[in-house]
Amino acid sequence: MSDAARNLEAVMGRISGSARECDREPEDVGLIAVSKTFAADAIRPVIEAGHRVFGENRVQEAQGKWPALKEEYPDIELHLIGPLQSNKTKDAIALFDVIQTVDREKIAAALAAEMAKQNRHPRLYVQVNTGLEEQKAGIDPREAAGFVARCREVHGLRIEGLMCIPPIDENPGPHFALLEKIAREAGVKRLSMGMSGDFETAIAFGATSVRVGSAIFGSR
Ligand SMILES: *Cc1c(COP(=O)(O)O)cnc(C)c1O
Repeated sequence: MSDAARNLEAVMGRISGSARECDREPEDVGLIAVSKTFAADAIRPVIEAGHRVFGENRVQEAQGKWPALKEEYPDIELHLIGPLQSNKTKDAIALFDVIQTVDREKIAAALAAEMAKQNRHPRLYVQVNTGLEEQKAGIDPREAAGFVARCREVHGLRIEGLMCIPPIDENPGPHFALLEKIAREAGVKRLSMGMSGDFETAIAFGATSVRVGSAIFGSR
């Protein structure tokens, strides 16, 4: 077994353990294996081990490796977890099955137009900048519930969940709790939160997807 496949198994075991510890069902927490910076050769053993859900943070990088892998394994589900520029919406809609980084009006409008044009409807999440970090993408937490409503009412987009990346130097718990609270206000059910260093905490706060890269593929 490859290192990555072994790591995958260990991470899945930890996800199940944390879910059970807080009386949740392990199958209610999805694992997004984050393969950014890794080439197809490094990703393949994880696919061969049976995993199908992957995350990438750059449209262009993903275009270089995933079309061929998706052709070979049609049941792969690919998530965009990095910032989306409006000139990339066309490519993003064509390639990704889930876009987790809807965070402003202009992108919502561009996605709606492009989804209609391509008749492809990736599932959508709104990214929330829970730490109000200047350099980070995501909508202001105070505007998030209103933005989810506008996505629906103005742009006809159904938002399935919320996503956040807590500040690197802070205790993530309060950020996960805030995301969960906004999701309740906004009436959305799914929460994408938790990475290699904090996914067990995120599960305790209600994560329905965790995004794990280095704990599976190694350091970047
Ligand atoms: C890279 C990345 C991850 C995975 O980070 P690790 O610490 O390697 O698990 C998760 N979410 C986003 C948005 C990322 O860009």
